[in-house]
Amino acid sequence: MKAFDSAYLRLTGWYVLIIMVISLMFSVWVHSQATREIRMSVDRIVQESPLVRVFPGRFQAVIEEHVQDSHRRLIVRLVSLNALVLAVGAIASYGLARRTLRPIEESVEAQHRFTADASHELRTPLAAMKAEIEVGLRDKKLTKNEAVGLLRSSLEEVDRLEHLAEGLLVLTQADAVRPLTPVSLEEIAAKVTRRLQALAEAKHIAVKRQLKPVIVPAEEAAVDKIISILLDNAIKYSPAHTEITLKTYQKDGHGFLKVEDHGIGIRSSELPHIFDRFYRADSSRSVASVAGHGLGLSIAKRLAESINATIDVKSGPGKGSEFTLRF
Ligand code: ADP
Repeated sequence: MKAFDSAYLRLTGWYVLIIMVISLMFSVWVHSQATREIRMSVDRIVQESPLVRVFPGRFQAVIEEHVQDSHRRLIVRLVSLNALVLAVGAIASYGLARRTLRPIEESVEAQHRFTADASHELRTPLAAMKAEIEVGLRDKKLTKNEAVGLLRSSLEEVDRLEHLAEGLLVLTQADAVRPLTPVSLEEIAAKVTRRLQALAEAKHIAVKRQLKPVIVPAEEAAVDKIISILLDNAIKYSPAHTEITLKTYQKDGHGFLKVEDHGIGIRSSELPHIFDRFYRADSSRSVASVAGHGLGLSIAKRLAESINATIDVKSGPGKGSEFTLRF
């Protein structure tokens, strides 16, 4: 991202400045200490050497030259050291600046993608609604029945938009930190099943419950939402007169919840993407009656992560799907 290039350079500049201030202060200190040492050793030589005391004029010039020479060498070494610190410091600072800013850049990029995806999804129903209304307004002989039909169709689009807006809101809140308390998995599963019973019955789908008592550390509202999404999908993507099984059980010290259906299934090439935002498998797009925006599973996954759980899936076209929530 362009905005971040200058931020990288500015942060590198600050790091280099701090390193150089420390290095120069250190050099000044070394210089003053070394100069004092040289002076003190020269004074010692002068005091201890009888020859120098007898002929001070002759030796003074030689000693002074020595002192100047040592001083020059000290300065050259300190300047070289600072040049080296500057070169190494600049490279290290740039690396450090990248490391510091990378997570921020990634989150800004993710936000941009989210906004772009969301506006793309919002545009489609809005464009459909606009086109219908414009055609209706242009039709001078529009009957009352046709107008009612048009309003109904617009209402459907408004419903879709409302559903999408809700999904987007839940998605933005899905990463929130949640307090984990012991919750009963089978009780929440039973509650969700009762709530979605009418939806299943409308398609003559039997929801079988095999619920064993399981207590897990989680947040009830998050678990409720995840199970609702998985069960709702199982109903949506199953043909009429099939069976869905909901299981809760404990194994190897972990709590599990499984939703098994005998629906259309998912191709193995599409499996890695189904938890992506706005992703809908081709198979589900072709089922015109199945409404959705491809947000459910991405919400479920993020909610699961926020309560330290994972979601796995096994599925095959025509074989049905099995989603497992593991605590
Ligand atoms: P939506 O259902 O709104 O399309 P989701 O994020 O819940 O979005 O699901 C993403 C995609 O994963 C769906 O479009 C569908 O293709 C596939 N999918 C999810 N659950 C199932 C299931 N139980 N059976 C078959 N396909 C499924």
